[in-house]
Amino acid sequence: MVNILFVLIGIIAFSLCLFLIFRGLSMKIKSENKLPSGNIFRTDLNKPSKALVSDKYRLIGKPDYLLNVNGGIIPVEFKTSRDGKIKEGHILQLASYCLLIEECYKQKVDYGILDYNGDKYEIPFTDELKNELLNVMFNIRNEGEQPTRNHENYGKCLNCSYNFGCPSSLLIKENRKV
Ligand code: SF4
Repeated sequence: MVNILFVLIGIIAFSLCLFLIFRGLSMKIKSENKLPSGNIFRTDLNKPSKALVSDKYRLIGKPDYLLNVNGGIIPVEFKTSRDGKIKEGHILQLASYCLLIEECYKQKVDYGILDYNGDKYEIPFTDELKNELLNVMFNIRNEGEQPTRNHENYGKCLNCSYNFGCPSSLLIKENRKV
């Protein structure tokens, strides 16, 4: 009986340690990257994760973070910008993540966040932005504007602002679904 008690106490102590370690890691990720408040439930920065895939839109993507905020899911994408201006390509890339979340998690996404070296911008995922994204994807795929890939660098495609519509992207090659 005493032995069983010791085993039980050991298991509880071990579980508590794991919980505290996990919580510590999560908080560290947040503070290092100055994330908005919310629970991280998926990150691509510190460990590889599977891509979000939509067969319907022939779309694939890997947001840097997904956050749970007030019961909803929002994507967060980190970027660098020398001139401090928000890039159109970055907005469309973020919009593609919003669309992927809606497809994969079956819930509406109100906005995403672009983080330029700690300066955060909430980008509303409006119907207008969604339509613009779909138009750009259509044009890239159907009007002969397809970029030709001249490298085998997966990371380059992963960080490319046009990976949401690029049929040459190595993200597609890796996942082979869309
Ligand atoms: S996704 Fe890859 S292949 Fe396509 S434009 Fe970007 S870097 Fe080039």
